[in-house]
Amino acid sequence: MAATVMEIYGSKVFNEHEMRERLPSSTYKSLKATIEKGQPLDLDVANVVASVMKRWAIEQGATHYTHWFQPLTGITSEKHDGFVSPQPDGTAIMEFSGKELIKGEPDASSFPSGGLRATAEARGYTAWDPTSYAFVKDEVLCIPTAFCSYTGEALDKKTPLLRSMQAISDQACRVLKLFGKDVERVSTTVGPEQEFFLIRKEDYNKRLDVVLTGRTLFGSAPSKGQELEEHYFGTLRPIVSEFYKDLDEELWKLGVPARTKHNEVAPGQHELAPIFDTTNVAIDHNLVTMEILQKVAAKHGLVCLLHEKPFEGVNGSGKHNNWSLTAGGENLLDPGDTPMENLQFMVFLAAVIKAVDEYADLLRTSVATPGNDHRLGANEAPPAIISIFVGEELEAVIDAICSDSPYAGPVKMKMDLGVDVLPKFSKDTTDRNRTSPFAFTGNKFEFRMPGSNENLSDANFILNTAVAKALKDFVAATSDAADFECAAAAWVKQTLNDHRRVIFNGNGYSAAWEEEAARRGLPNRKCTPDAMIALKDPKNVALMEEFGVLTKTELFSRYEVEMEHYSKVINIEARTMLKIANKQLIPAATTYMGDVASTAAAKQTVSESLSTRAETRLLTALSRYTDEMSDAADALKAVTDKVSALEDEAAKAHAFHDEVLPAMARLRAAADEAEELCDEDYWPLPCYSRLLFYTE
Ligand code: ADP
Ligand code: MG
Repeated sequence: MAATVMEIYGSKVFNEHEMRERLPSSTYKSLKATIEKGQPLDLDVANVVASVMKRWAIEQGATHYTHWFQPLTGITSEKHDGFVSPQPDGTAIMEFSGKELIKGEPDASSFPSGGLRATAEARGYTAWDPTSYAFVKDEVLCIPTAFCSYTGEALDKKTPLLRSMQAISDQACRVLKLFGKDVERVSTTVGPEQEFFLIRKEDYNKRLDVVLTGRTLFGSAPSKGQELEEHYFGTLRPIVSEFYKDLDEELWKLGVPARTKHNEVAPGQHELAPIFDTTNVAIDHNLVTMEILQKVAAKHGLVCLLHEKPFEGVNGSGKHNNWSLTAGGENLLDPGDTPMENLQFMVFLAAVIKAVDEYADLLRTSVATPGNDHRLGANEAPPAIISIFVGEELEAVIDAICSDSPYAGPVKMKMDLGVDVLPKFSKDTTDRNRTSPFAFTGNKFEFRMPGSNENLSDANFILNTAVAKALKDFVAATSDAADFECAAAAWVKQTLNDHRRVIFNGNGYSAAWEEEAARRGLPNRKCTPDAMIALKDPKNVALMEEFGVLTKTELFSRYEVEMEHYSKVINIEARTMLKIANKQLIPAATTYMGDVASTAAAKQTVSESLSTRAETRLLTALSRYTDEMSDAADALKAVTDKVSALEDEAAKAHAFHDEVLPAMARLRAAADEAEELCDEDYWPLPCYSRLLFYTE
């Protein structure tokens, strides 16, 4: 197998290796300059690249190409165009020009734009992101692209990400220059750990809720949950093991460095982690991974659920965003061995702390989705409050710096505000605080709030830009200083003092932390409609405009898109519940009650002395819950109709949260009680135990 892994790895990717082998050397050089330095690609070069790329793609079986992009909602979009070009003599040739490679014009009218683009002028174009390799998937050459309107507004998730990567690179290079290092580019790296559930296809097909919304809208708690903790890192079920082997192979072909796989905490839950990569590439890979997960699952009679909370009362799924900065191979979040390296490390560390504290509200928007609302704050994912975990040792260092007191760490060292103020310390990788939303894990930060179904572009463009701002602040404070090292140390001290409040090493799941966070003035926005308002905050608009990442108009449009999206999702969920309750659950309960009643009546005709106590008790309870279901369904319908008629998108989203969600919860509560009483053969929805504990 090892030999085949090497053969198949990247075999479907037009990667560096293929480029070097196949492109004329001058074309290769121009393309490399575009990839590495962002220099524009001229059309002659693009024509050569396109022609070579096409030939390669045809060898891989491709007949079509697509500009593969990331609209504001949904995961990725593609429209396939054939290479085929009929000739006058009745034959056909395969064509693909440089223009088609670098620019596409999808009919963009039905992608969400939050009012940025009136449908009548639905013109937008996609532009190749040459820093992310093209690949062949399902006989289609996929070209990773960004998507903009003709007036230049970003209509997708990739555009602001690429802009933010430039912003943080520029500022980090300036910082490094002050440390005497000349680098052309600083990259951000991301390693996303993807969680998901696998259930059997036959169960899935019987659950309209999962089919339509990705999650169970009904279902009483299983008698066995995850309390035995036997699933985490447990042996893979044979069917899952086969699935993983296939998955690895498909991902490797696409050059996705899938590496770690294991069972997660909840029954039926699994994880896949790749080796980290430059952010835009890592995110493209993650999006491909999400697609391949579902395709491979289908081949094995399984369905992969990427929803953040498919099952109530069972852990949901997240996607940890491991994040760092790298300059020519040097990880800038690695503490280093010498005081000077430590100083540089402390600058980057303090910048991240400042960024996260100042823009916590904005960062919160990046993980706010209707699905993730069920996770954040529940006892499995971090709370909706953003705080940073740095570990005991680093906190002791920070304490010492903040208070000018001696550092009492493993390496004793007197602290004062001289040049070599910063103590040498080893990196602390032992204590992995799982309850922290944003944890320093030795040489990277792990942002743990993102949900499993998210495109990580949002989280990263916000993080990158906020850190760029903090680094810019550092340069402004120190670049003219007579003694740079002193000024740098003073900035670190000041910054840590100003933003200490965001550091929290305790239990993020506890109620006490919520109170403490409120005292510290940290924002705690619990649901998507409440969180999204930060997209319109003048402070946040100013940040994005300062670095040319998004304009005020673009941010406001994103607010509209997100609020509208929220309402649409809850509306679909509410109406799916109504269908299931009225057409499946109430009829099932009624039929069952009819049979029980007939049985009781039959028994009575045989002999009045036969007891019908069990039947009567069952009928009394089930009849009550069925009435409750019926009442709750009527109430849910009324409130959903009322709320969906609201005109104002913001008011509507809030009303869906405040009024529709509670009505859904009431319907579910009645139905779940009924499920407990109803004969399984009558109840149309496979129960949680069967969904989660299948054996195959
Ligand atoms: P876990 O958090 O499950 O213990 P690891 O710490 O080994 O797992 O790694 C989690 C993820 O972090 C992996 O995808 C890994 O590639 C990624 N990672 C490691 N170093 C970096 C880095 N410098 N930048 C970004 N991601 C990284
Ligand atoms: Mg992790």
